[in-house]
Amino acid sequence: MSACTTCGACCACFRVEFSVYEVDLAGGTVPAGMAHEINGNRWRMNGTGEVPIRCTALTGTVGERVGCSIYALRPAPCHELTEGSEACERARTKRGLPPL
Ligand code: SF4
Ligand code: SF4
Repeated sequence: MSACTTCGACCACFRVEFSVYEVDLAGGTVPAGMAHEINGNRWRMNGTGEVPIRCTALTGTVGERVGCSIYALRPAPCHELTEGSEACERARTKRGLPPL
């Protein structure tokens, strides 16, 4: 089973930013109500530009049991951050979770 289901650290560590074309209003998939524009063509998931960071789509408790409420619709950075990658391990360390 993926370590992600009991982790969620990356969804609570990084700014999640993407092109406006990933937003449903512009023909993409990400629900506009869960993100906001940061400039003309960049959008950011709500909650990922705040302190403490926590993506609005993240459900559950980091390090215990988590889910992404828009998993099938999530933006490119979420697809690109893979389990076991350097960014993944950095996020886990920040949240006090052991390396994979
Ligand atoms: S930090 Fe790594 S293990 Fe944790 S949810 Fe993200 S990709 Fe999965
Ligand atoms: S959209 Fe989903 S996968 Fe992406 S940061 Fe938010 S909770 Fe995590």
